[in-house]
Amino acid sequence: MSIRVLVGVKRVIDYAVKIRVRPDKLGVVTDGVKHSMNPFDEIAVEEAVRLKEKKIAKEVIAVSCGPAQAQETIRTALAMGADRGIHVEVPAKEVEKLEPIHVSKILAKLAEKEGAELVIVGKQAIDDDTNATAQMTAALLDWPQATFASKIEKKNGDLEVVREIDGGLETITVKLPAVVSADLRLNEPRYATLPNIMKAKKKKIAKMKPADLGVDTTPHFEVVDVSDPPARAAGIKVDDVDSLISKLKEVGRI
Ligand code: AMP
Repeated sequence: MSIRVLVGVKRVIDYAVKIRVRPDKLGVVTDGVKHSMNPFDEIAVEEAVRLKEKKIAKEVIAVSCGPAQAQETIRTALAMGADRGIHVEVPAKEVEKLEPIHVSKILAKLAEKEGAELVIVGKQAIDDDTNATAQMTAALLDWPQATFASKIEKKNGDLEVVREIDGGLETITVKLPAVVSADLRLNEPRYATLPNIMKAKKKKIAKMKPADLGVDTTPHFEVVDVSDPPARAAGIKVDDVDSLISKLKEVGRI
């Protein structure tokens, strides 16, 4: 049995960019800032493509909810080996108000519509750090979830997933259909090579709006203040170990 896999790919500010708070303190500066695919989503795409290479998956569909530029994120997924894309258009000025519950409803609807048996998302998006989409999508579909996956194998029609938990590693089996979220150690995503980038240009990206899927994206919460983390106080230099120990004693650290 070969399954269809839906992968969520979010366009986020690149991990290497120094984030700046906007003057209105209601968000961060996004204009003219480098954006990339959320790093955990690269891992999710890689895993889906590997499942296809192992003939466990028959088709990989990359979904991104976001502004026009989200198409670039989908193209990256296509260049990595996804078969086709779905761009759920959310205007740029509304995108920061898009909540995990909205994305989850969209992914759940698409999973049903496309007949997908597996949804893979990143464990969290590095912009909002919510870590909620996998869990909510699984709840909406009433499918089992295997979050923080560091290994996925197909065993007798089920998925055996090794999960990264606080105390170490946990191995579970989930019945398909299921939702999985990708953790850092699941794999090392491949780079999109130039020939594959060229080939990806021919792959299809369907466009739709959340309303086409019956999803209402009215926000449930409002951001009232965004601020920088407190600046760290400057450290001091000590001449030797003895003065280090007495300084540490002074400040009650030993
Ligand atoms: P979050 O729950 O917001 O931390 O996001 C977890 C994962 O859900 C991400 O790593 C993506 O795989 C997926 N996801 C979140 N937002 C979007 C989006 N706008 N478009 C596509 N996938 C998304």
